[in-house]
Amino acid sequence: MSLNYRHDYPLRGLNTFGLDAVAEWHVEIEDRQQVVALHEALQADPRPLLWLGGGSNLVLAPRVPGVVARICLRERQLECLSDDRVRVTLGAGENWHQSVSWLLEEGIYGLENLALIPGTVGAAPVQNIGAYGVEIGDRLEEVEVFDRQQGSFRWLSRDACNFAYRDSCFKRAPGRYLITRVRLLLSRRPAPVLAYAPLRQALQGEEVSPQAVFAAVCRLRRSKLPDPARIGNAGSFFKNPTVDREHYQRLRVRFPDLVAHADGQGYKLAAGWLIDRLGWKGYRCGGVGVHERQALVLVNRGGGDQMRIAALAEQIRRAVRAAFGIELEIEPGFYPYNPLLPDD
Ligand code: FAD
Ligand code: NAP
Repeated sequence: MSLNYRHDYPLRGLNTFGLDAVAEWHVEIEDRQQVVALHEALQADPRPLLWLGGGSNLVLAPRVPGVVARICLRERQLECLSDDRVRVTLGAGENWHQSVSWLLEEGIYGLENLALIPGTVGAAPVQNIGAYGVEIGDRLEEVEVFDRQQGSFRWLSRDACNFAYRDSCFKRAPGRYLITRVRLLLSRRPAPVLAYAPLRQALQGEEVSPQAVFAAVCRLRRSKLPDPARIGNAGSFFKNPTVDREHYQRLRVRFPDLVAHADGQGYKLAAGWLIDRLGWKGYRCGGVGVHERQALVLVNRGGGDQMRIAALAEQIRRAVRAAFGIELEIEPGFYPYNPLLPDD
C-alpha cells in the first residue's frame, strides 16, 4: 500500500496527556512495504521522524516537526513449543492490554501483572515496561526491528536489547530502530508472581490463579491511577531512584517512614513517596498538576502544554533535590526535546 501523508495533522487524540499537538506530517504504517517506503523517502528528503504507538509515554511540543509515523502493524501468532511452553508473536501495532487479555483467554500465562498498561506491543520493549514485579524483558525471546542505520529488517535477541529498569537499547538510540514484531515465551502452566505486597493483599481470601491476578492488577490500577480518557497523563512521570546504602541510611534517620526496597545496587526509593512527602499531591497550576491519589503522576486537566509540564517537572525535581539530595529522572520522552533541557 502506498503511504498516505497528511499535513498539519492533529495529535490531541493520539497522546494520553491530551496535549494539543499538531504533526507537520502524519502517516500510518500498516505493512512492511510501507516501512521500507518511508525509510527510502526520508533518505531522499531527510526530516525528523517519530515512531508513534499509543502516545502514552510522550510529552509532545505544540508543533511536531517532520514526520510522525503511527505504527499500526497487526499480527497475532501462537506456536506450541512443548506441552506448556508457547511462543507468541505479536505485531508492533497490537494494543498491549488487549493482547494480555487475549492470551489469558487462550490459557497462556505470564503477562497478568502487566495488565492495563496503555499503549502498543511495539513500544513495550522501548522502556522495558514493568509493573508489580514483572518486566516485559523477563518474558521476551526476541524482537524484529527495522534498523534505519542499516536499512533492513532483523531479529534482535533479548540480550541484545540491553534491558534495564525502564530502559533498553531502543530508548538509548531514539528513532534508529522501529520495532515491527515482538516474540514472547509464555506458558500454559500458571506461575503467579506475587512479590508486591499490595498485590498479595488484593488477593487475600481468593484462590490465586492467573485470572485472579489479572483482575486484582486491574482493580488496583483503576483505584490508584487516573484514566487518561478522563484526565490527561502519561503514567509515572519519574523513575524510582536508587541510592547507595549510606544515602539510604541517612534518609532513614530523618524520614523513618521512607518507602524503599533493597535491590542489587542499593535501595530503590518510591519517587511517589518523596514527592508526596513534600506536599505536591493535588497541586494545580495553569491546567497542569499532580494527581490527587498518586503523586508520581503529572496530569493535564485541560489547557496544559509541553512547556508547563516541563516547568512543573523541573520544580518538583528541584524540591526533591533540595530535600533528599536525589536527582529524579523523567520517564516519558519529551519530543522533539525538553524545552528546559534543550541538549536532551
Ligand atoms: P508511545 O508513547 O507512542 O511511544 C513511546 C516511545 O516509544 C517513543 O519514543 C516512541 O517513538 C517509541 N516507539 C513507539 N512505538 C515504537 C515502535 N514500534 N518501535 C520503536 N519505537 C517505538 N509504563 C510501565 O512501564 N509500567 C506501567 O505500569 C505503566 N503504566 C502506565 C499507566 C498510565 C495511565 C499511562 C498513561 C502510562 C503508563 N505507562 C507504564 C507508560 C506507557 O504506557 C508505556 O511506556 C507504553 O509502553 C508506551 O506505549 P505507547 O504505544 O503508548 O508508546
Ligand atoms: P506501589 O505498589 O505503591 O509501590 C511503590 C513503589 O515501590 C513502586 O513504584 C515499586 O517500584 C516499589 N515496590 C513495591 N513493592 C516492591 C517490591 N516487593 N520489590 C521491589 N520494589 C517494590 O506502586 P504503584 O505506584 O501502585 O504501582 C504499582 C506497579 O505498577 C509498580 O510496579 C509501578 O512501577 C507500576 N506502574 C508504572 C507506571 C509507569 O508509568 N511506569 C504507572 C503506574 C504503575 P517499581 O515501580 O520499580 O515497580
